[in-house]
Amino acid sequence: MSAIMMSGKELAAEMNEEMQAMVEELKMKGVIPGLVVLLVGEDPASQTYVRNKEKRAQALGFHSVIERYSDTISEEQLLNELDRFNQDPMIHGILVQLPLPKQIDSEKILNAIDSKKDIDGFHPINMGKLLIGKPDKIACTPYGIMKLLERHQIEIAGKTAVVIGRSNIVGKPMAQLLLMNDATVTMAHSKTKNLAAIARTADILVVAIGRGHFVTKDFIKPGAAVIDVGMNRDQNGKLIGDVKADEVSEVAGYLTPVPGGVGPMTITMLLYQTIISAQKTI
Ligand code: NAP
Repeated sequence: MSAIMMSGKELAAEMNEEMQAMVEELKMKGVIPGLVVLLVGEDPASQTYVRNKEKRAQALGFHSVIERYSDTISEEQLLNELDRFNQDPMIHGILVQLPLPKQIDSEKILNAIDSKKDIDGFHPINMGKLLIGKPDKIACTPYGIMKLLERHQIEIAGKTAVVIGRSNIVGKPMAQLLLMNDATVTMAHSKTKNLAAIARTADILVVAIGRGHFVTKDFIKPGAAVIDVGMNRDQNGKLIGDVKADEVSEVAGYLTPVPGGVGPMTITMLLYQTIISAQKTI
C-alpha cells in the first residue's frame, strides 16, 4: 500500500483563493494588508527568500515593502527602523530576515517587534500565549502543518503524536499545537534513546531534525500520518527530506512530500497571519 500524499502545494493554492477573498473584503473596508520585510546585507539565499515572499504578497494585493540595509548598520539604527514600522498603521506584519550581521543581537531585534505584528510567531509573548493555550500569532511552519492535518481530516484528539526535533521555530510550537488539540505528545531529540521504538508509537509523526533520509520505515507505525519538515541537500544538490519517502510511504497512511509538502505552507501562513493581523485593526 502506498501512503496518501499530503500536498502543501495544493493546499497553498486553495488557501491563496481564500486569502484573495479576505483581502478583497478588507479593501472594501478601506484596509490594505501591509507587510514589511527588513533585509540586512546581501546574502543571496536571503535575497531569494525575500523576493519570493514579496511576489506572493503583491499577487494577493498587499501593500508590500522590502527595506534594504547595509550590513554595516548598527543595532541601534536597526532598532530605530523597526520602531518606525511598529508605529506605522499601514503595516500589519513585520518580518526580519535572518541571519543578521555579527554586530547585531538577533534575539534583541526579534523581541523588539510589536508582538501584534510578529507574523513569524517567534516573539516570546506569542510563544507564551501558545503555551497557555491562547494562541495569537503562531510559528508558521507548525501552523501550516496543522492546516495540512485538518485538510486531510486526520484525527488528532486522543491520538499519539511524536515530534522529533525541539527547536523553538518548529518542534516546540508543533508539540504544543498537537497538545492543544488533545493529542498525547512525546517530544524527541538528539539525546532520546530508542528513537525508532518511540516513533513507532505515533499515529502522527512530525520529523524536524535536518538530517537527510534519517527516518526509515522502521520508525513508522502502519497507517501513521508522517510529516516531513526537513529540507536537506543530498550529494547531488537535490532537495531531500528527513524521511526516506520511498520506503516510508509503503508503511505510512499519509506522508508530506519534499519538496511540495510543508515548505509551501510556511510562506502561506505568513501571509495569512498578516491578513488576520490587518482584520484585527478594524
Ligand atoms: P534545528 O534548530 O537545527 O533543530 C534540530 C532538532 O533536531 C534539534 O532539537 C535536535 O536535537 C534534533 N536532532 C538532531 N539530530 C537528531 C537525531 N539524530 N535524532 C533525534 N533528534 C535529532 O532545526 P529546525 O530549525 O527545527 O529545522 C529542522 C529541519 O526542518 C531543517 O532541515 C530545516 O531546514 C527544516 N525546516 C523546514 C521548514 C519548511 O518550511 N519546510 C521550516 C523550518 C525548518 P537537540 O535539541 O538535542 O540538539
